[in-house]
Amino acid sequence: MSWHFAYFLPYGSLSANLQQREKRAVWHPYSALGSDLPVYPVRSARGVRLQLENGRELIDGMASWWCVIHGYNHPVLNAAIESQLGDMAHVMFGGLTHEPAVSLAERLVELTPDGLEAVFFTDSGSVAVEAAMKMAIQYWIARGQPGKRRFLSPRNGYHGDTLHAMSVCDPVTGMHGLFRDVLPQQVFIGRPEPGFGQAAQSHHLQELEQALDQHADELAALILEPVVQGAGGMRFYSADYLKAARELCDRHGVLLIADEIATGFGRTGRLFACEHAGISPDIMTVGKALTGGYMTLGATLTTQTVAGTISEGNPGVFMHGPTFMANPLACAVANASIELLLDSPWQERIEAIGKGLRAGLAPCRSLSHVAEVRVLGAIGVVELTAPVDMQRVQPMFVDRGVWVRPFGRLVYLMPPFIMQPNDLATLTAGVVEVVSSLTENDGVCAPD
Ligand SMILES: *Cc1c(COP(=O)(O)O)cnc(C)c1O
Repeated sequence: MSWHFAYFLPYGSLSANLQQREKRAVWHPYSALGSDLPVYPVRSARGVRLQLENGRELIDGMASWWCVIHGYNHPVLNAAIESQLGDMAHVMFGGLTHEPAVSLAERLVELTPDGLEAVFFTDSGSVAVEAAMKMAIQYWIARGQPGKRRFLSPRNGYHGDTLHAMSVCDPVTGMHGLFRDVLPQQVFIGRPEPGFGQAAQSHHLQELEQALDQHADELAALILEPVVQGAGGMRFYSADYLKAARELCDRHGVLLIADEIATGFGRTGRLFACEHAGISPDIMTVGKALTGGYMTLGATLTTQTVAGTISEGNPGVFMHGPTFMANPLACAVANASIELLLDSPWQERIEAIGKGLRAGLAPCRSLSHVAEVRVLGAIGVVELTAPVDMQRVQPMFVDRGVWVRPFGRLVYLMPPFIMQPNDLATLTAGVVEVVSSLTENDGVCAPD
C-alpha cells in the first residue's frame, strides 16, 4: 500500500475493513471466532513503538510476549536476515547442515549452564518442551526403565499449548478438566515457595521431597520454570527451591528439565534464570527471545550423559525432527541477536528497567483491589484481586498510548531492554491510571 493511498483513506476505514474481514476467518490466541473483543491492526513497528493502521502509536510493554528484547525493526537484525536470505531461506536439516545452525549450537552450549552440551533445534517453544519430555522418556527407556515416563510439575506453571506440554501446565489455567481423558496424567505439587529473595525452610520443600519419594520409580523428570513462573501466574520464587530441586532430583534418580523459554536471554537479570541458583539442569528449553522476536525458533539442550544414553540405547536415535528444524534465517538472526545482547550493557539496562518499574508501579500498592506489586529483572507485575474485563480495559490502555495485555488478574510489563526512562514512565503511568480507574468505575473488575 502506498503512502498516498493510506493518506486519502479516512482514518480508521482500512482498519475497520480489516477487522471485518478477519472476524469471519481468523482465530486469535485463546479466543472465540468472531469475538467482540477488540483487535488492533498494526501497520509497522520500530524501536519500542507499534504503529497502528489508524496512525496511533503505542509504547510496547509486552515485547510481543517476552521476545522482542532489542525492539522492533532493528538494523542489525534486519541485516542478518537479509544477508542469510541471499544464501538460502531454508534447507532441510536431515542429512544437511549449515553454518548458522552450527554457530548457534556452539554459542548456546557456551552460554548456558555447565554440562549442557548437545542442542536439538525446534520450530517453537512448545515443540522444544515436547522434545525435552521425549528426551527424558527415551533416556529412561534406554536405561531399561520404561516405567519412568510421568512428569512432576509444580502448580502455576506454563510450558506451552501442545498436548504433552499442556499436561504439565497448571491444571486449572491449563484447563485439564476440559481435556481430562486426553491428557497424560502427571504428578502435581504446590507452587514453589517462598518468594524470590527469601530463604527456603524445610517445610517449603516437603511436598517436593514427598512427591519424589513416592513417585520416583514412575517419574522421568521434574519440569519447572526456573525462578519465574510466566503465563501460569507471573510469580517469582526463591532460588533455594531450585537449588533443592536439583539436589532432590539427583538423590531420587529423576531428571530435571528447566524451561527457560520465557526467562532466557537476560529477562530476570541473569542470562539464564538457573544462574540465580547456580544449578545446571539435565535438559533445558529456550525459545521466545532466542531470535530477538524475529523468527520462530526453539532449542532443547541436554547433557552428554542424556544424549549419549539415548544415542547408544534402543532404537539408538532421538525420535523427533520438525520440518523447519534449525531454519537458517531463524538461526542467523538468533546469532545476531545473541551477539547484540552480549555486546550491549544488558545488565545495567535491565537493572534500570527494574528500578523504573518499581518506582512507576509503586502507586498501585495502596489500591484496595491490588493484591501485590512485584518486580524482578525487567518484569513488573500488578496482581489484582479480581480478573480484569478485557473488553473495557484493553481500549483504556490503547487510549493512553501504551500496549499492555493483561490476563486474568494480572496486569504486567516486560518491555524491550532498549526502553528509555521516559517511555518506561509513560508505560507505568498508563498502568497506574488504568488500574486506579478500576475502583472508580465499578464493575470493570468482574468477580473471580
Ligand atoms: C511461551 C512459553 C512456552 C511455549 O512456547 P511457544 O513458542 O508459544 O510454543 C513454553 N514454556 C514457557 C515457559 C513459555 O513461556
